[in-house]
Amino acid sequence: MMHPDLNDAVLKANLNEEVWNVLEIKARLWTNGDKQELIKRAVAAYKEPIQFMESAHCPKCGQLAEERLDTFDTVNGVVIDGVPTIVCNHCGNKAWDLLLIGKLEQMALSLPSGTKTSLDEMMSIH
Ligand SMILES: [Zn+2]
Repeated sequence: MMHPDLNDAVLKANLNEEVWNVLEIKARLWTNGDKQELIKRAVAAYKEPIQFMESAHCPKCGQLAEERLDTFDTVNGVVIDGVPTIVCNHCGNKAWDLLLIGKLEQMALSLPSGTKTSLDEMMSIH
């Protein structure tokens, strides 16, 4: 029998029982009980089209704005294509999702300045 390690305990505490039970079954079937490996594979395989908001308003001027993919430049000089943003045609403001941008900024710290990449690339597990 496998003994739960600390990672398992933390993981289990963050999942509801139904999800945890299915995770254990699938891990036993396909990854020798290695739940981290199963999650890694599931995350790598998970991909859906990015859903745009049907109508967005510019947080700066309040006019109707359009959500689309654009290029984001991180503080340390990494250029990331294909990042969703709300672009205002009236005042030119671009509104980014702060949680998404915060994560991209953090990940970009491990890349050399001048790197050109894309959101797709940053979402892939190698
Ligand atoms: Zn605006």
